Amino acid sequence: MYKQQPIFLEPVLQERIWGGTKLADVFGYELPSDQTGEAWVISAHQNGPSKIRNGELAGKTLLDAWQEHRELFGKHDNEDYPLLVKILDAKTDLSVQVHPADDYAQEVENEPYGKTECWYVVDAEPGAEIVFGHHAQTKEQLERMIDQGEWNQLLQRIPVKKGDFVYVPSGAIHAIGAGIVILETQQSSDITYRVYDYDRTDNQGKKRELHLDSAKAVSTVPHETTETREAPVTKGAKTEQKLVESEYFTVYHWQIAGEIELETPASFLQVSIIEGSGEVKLDDQSFQLNKGDNFILPVHIKNFTLNGNLEAIVSHT
Ligand code: ZN
Repeated sequence: MYKQQPIFLEPVLQERIWGGTKLADVFGYELPSDQTGEAWVISAHQNGPSKIRNGELAGKTLLDAWQEHRELFGKHDNEDYPLLVKILDAKTDLSVQVHPADDYAQEVENEPYGKTECWYVVDAEPGAEIVFGHHAQTKEQLERMIDQGEWNQLLQRIPVKKGDFVYVPSGAIHAIGAGIVILETQQSSDITYRVYDYDRTDNQGKKRELHLDSAKAVSTVPHETTETREAPVTKGAKTEQKLVESEYFTVYHWQIAGEIELETPASFLQVSIIEGSGEVKLDDQSFQLNKGDNFILPVHIKNFTLNGNLEAIVSHT
């Protein structure tokens, strides 16, 4: 039987042409280059599983733990770890894209999950904007506007600031704009259909591939925006805001100021510290928490104590 401990994870840093250095500046991560776009902070995805930092599983990945010690995570119907948490630094605009739902991912891509995702804006420069949704009213109109490259008329741009939250269901056309750092909680999927890449070319003069047929097939028309946030609730030293409760994940923003005893709300719990510091305590053990730390509380940990002055994004299935 394992000693009951939080599972701390090392981020997997991914270079991207649109990336920068804020993952080091803001979170203190060690970057492979000054074009680092993504930190996969809680990942059991085969394209970049996070490594376990502590305890008896130290040195193994979260994917190993999922495959060899499923009892840590409770009952799940699916073969694959369901969630993926990333922090993204967009130094320049990301391409405009859309993701499929589960049924399309399974039938067409032979992958277990489509991708519904959501973004908590950790940092945004003044004037920063996202693309979210489009103005087409029918599928025919969407296809025509894509074919004719009427991007300014088609795409809906929305200004964002630190602390904003965006729920992006599969089928919603979206892009993160320059100057934005987000924490993304999503289904564990890597399927992306690129719709528009601002006609950018690499240093060989080549454009990145687009996936227009798939994108047209999976895009929701007309676009729908859902407000998923509930009002924040303060109990003792914790202020909790439920950001979204969906079929795939429930995500909260927690603000801790002082010490509070907590119960895990569901199966296993994913926690990312986005501001401040403190500690998590279980029985006689205590673990230091700093900004940029990510951990999972396995399913058999029912009670724990948080102490400090910190903000966290917390999620579960
Ligand atoms: Zn996306």
